[in-house]
Amino acid sequence: MQKVNIIGAGLAGVEAALYLANIGVSVNLFEMRPKKNTLAHKTPYFAELVCSNSLKNKMLTNACGLLKEEVKILGSSIIKVANKVAIPGGNALVVDRDSFSKTLDKTVREHPLINVINEEVVDLPKGITIVASGPLTSKGLEKTLSNLLGEESLFFFDASAPLIEISSIDMEIAYFKSRYHQGDDSYINCPFTKDEYDIFYNELIKGKIALVHEFDKKYFSACMPIEVLAKKGKHTLRYGPLKPKGLEKEGRPQPYAVAQLRQDNALATLYNLVGFQTNLTYGEQERIFRLIPGLKNAKFTRFGLMHRNTYLNAPKLLNLDMSLKNNPNIYIAGQLSGVEGYVESAASGLYVAINVYRRLNKLKPLQIPPQTMLGALINYIIKASPKHFTPMNANFGLFPTHSKKEREQYINNALDAIKLYKEEIE
Ligand SMILES: Cc1cc2nc3c(=O)[nH]c(=O)nc-3n(C[C@H](O)[C@H](O)[C@H](O)COP(=O)(O)OP(=O)(O)OC[C@H]3O[C@@H](n4cnc5c(N)ncnc54)[C@H](O)[C@@H]3O)c2cc1C
Repeated sequence: MQKVNIIGAGLAGVEAALYLANIGVSVNLFEMRPKKNTLAHKTPYFAELVCSNSLKNKMLTNACGLLKEEVKILGSSIIKVANKVAIPGGNALVVDRDSFSKTLDKTVREHPLINVINEEVVDLPKGITIVASGPLTSKGLEKTLSNLLGEESLFFFDASAPLIEISSIDMEIAYFKSRYHQGDDSYINCPFTKDEYDIFYNELIKGKIALVHEFDKKYFSACMPIEVLAKKGKHTLRYGPLKPKGLEKEGRPQPYAVAQLRQDNALATLYNLVGFQTNLTYGEQERIFRLIPGLKNAKFTRFGLMHRNTYLNAPKLLNLDMSLKNNPNIYIAGQLSGVEGYVESAASGLYVAINVYRRLNKLKPLQIPPQTMLGALINYIIKASPKHFTPMNANFGLFPTHSKKEREQYINNALDAIKLYKEEIE
């Protein structure tokens, strides 16, 4: 059987390498660190956690908890090691970060079927290759990908606005309309009175900011965080993302400002706050954005963020098995493929490895059941709108359900479906 090349020994690359090697496939694993470092990694070890040492919530009633359970069932090495080196963290799977990456590093290096090559890949190797070089992909490889896929298909900066579940928006206050009724009236509008705007504005400009890396600050002029824009003047937002003109609602007073939400997924369960890319801490986003009329009880499935993040326009470029439409020998995994988060990156590495194994064995591609969290996530990144694509994490908004009771049923269905999928791939 032919050898598989994997570029990047991060969470996705290590997961993919161990999955393939454990079922008898030889792997060339390319990693540039420590010869060449990224701006966030600090150690020479594989699968380094660049920031938090939490792999998020472990309860099944939490979307990331469900995803962890699903990949554990599929044989995830990352979750296996995480559980082994877990430290107390309440409902979260918190790990001793050193033991976590050292254990995975050792497991990979000692595996007889994994050949580690310590070099930066600039030109893509021949044969089946999984590119898992992450959000901080080296410049040389970025250029190669850009030439292969077209400059406009590669993004270098993630400026995501918060995502909100539609079921939590108060539609007695908010209403559907496009500006001047242009298009299909698909935006949700949250109208402010002057008093509401004043309160919101005053909280926004003094909101607490998350720690930002120096290298993340360089991109701000192109796409400014809402709180930075607000600090330019009290009315700047009313002439920018909160412009009320053309968004009036018949029979209601003229709004002083309007926040708009745009549909984010095909199921229309998630809406993003237009223009609200932000560096506010998650807690502050929850507190301040709930001051927007209609969002008092908003359920955030993803908070806004801004950071250096190389990722592809997955819906435009990838097949369902995560291979490139214009070169099916190349698969994309991890954050580069448009998922967001440690567990999501590892999960996509696992999914790609499963597909590569089937390909090597001339087996038909198997669709990952969309009723699983992994399937819903993969479906999202493959089928989202290429025009507004930003990375996605695991969340229940990806399921077509709103009520808690239905959600319990969905969780059970997801676990049944992932077990069936496992039987099929075996
Ligand atoms: C600053 C920052 C903080 C983050 N914090 C969190 C967090 O707290 N929680 C969370 O859930 N997610 C976080 N993320 C998002 C994401 O989950 C992580 O970046 C995760 O590590 C992504 O996994 P990956 O396997 O795709 O990439 P990585 O884990 O980054 O692995 C990619 C590997 O490829 C190597 N590489 C790059 N280019 C080349 C090349 N040309 N040749 C050879 N090797 C190469 C890199 O050295 C690296 O080891 C953060 C992202 C960033 C950028």
